[in-house]
Amino acid sequence: MKLTFLGVGSAFAKNNANSNLLVESGDLTMAIDCGRSAPPALEEYGLSIKHLTHILITHLHADHIGGMEEVAFMTKLVYQFRVKVVSTVSLLDRLWNCSLRGGLEFIEESPNDTTPRTLEDYFEPIAIPAQQWIVVNETPLTKLYLHPTNHVRGMESYGVEMEVAEGGKNRRFLFSGDTKFDLDLIQHGIDSCGYVFHDCQLFDSGENNKMGVHASYGQLMELPPEIRKSLWLYHYSDDPLPNAKADGFAGFLQHLQSFTL
Ligand SMILES: [Zn+2]
Ligand SMILES: [Zn+2]
Repeated sequence: MKLTFLGVGSAFAKNNANSNLLVESGDLTMAIDCGRSAPPALEEYGLSIKHLTHILITHLHADHIGGMEEVAFMTKLVYQFRVKVVSTVSLLDRLWNCSLRGGLEFIEESPNDTTPRTLEDYFEPIAIPAQQWIVVNETPLTKLYLHPTNHVRGMESYGVEMEVAEGGKNRRFLFSGDTKFDLDLIQHGIDSCGYVFHDCQLFDSGENNKMGVHASYGQLMELPPEIRKSLWLYHYSDDPLPNAKADGFAGFLQHLQSFTL
């Protein structure tokens, strides 16, 4: 399994692209989230929209779904196939009705074409339950588990744990998605995978980051060294970065950084 960060920037960062992750495992090429910068980042990496087999959606902020309209139009009109879009029933419903429908409901494929389109006209939706291991690919056997996260009160959002059976071993990773500081999730990721890819805002929002919707660097610095050393940080702004390695973290992830598990 090869993981490549298609971006590591925060929602409003102008550098480092949106925090989306590409997973390549056998015949599976899955983007975990697809912000507006995902299509150009894929090209920078050497692939394109046409290579995607799956897109997993963790939540509906634009830095995670802003590239979906482009994927929809390009796969329908140019490449003529449907990417599998994986998420919960409720997130898939809101993805269409609250986000994509405005731009995709009508499309002129013939003169006087006014037929309303649906999500299924563009994508192959794969609805999965949260909090269960689900097989998403057979060779190699690849499973994922959606962990509900506390990102914005009232908003459905998930972290993603994935496991691939390769070379007689089960290899796992946990991608936190977007979440406030959540020690249980971090501890679970370290116990289960050995390390965690974790979103991180550089500065506290309000005292002790009370108004933050991401874990802050300061909050993560409060963790004991044996936990910090297992955290790779992403989803950061354009501000100068602290020296995360010197502070005991695994480090800040870089745009297009890859891991082979
Ligand atoms: Zn985000
Ligand atoms: Zn978000």
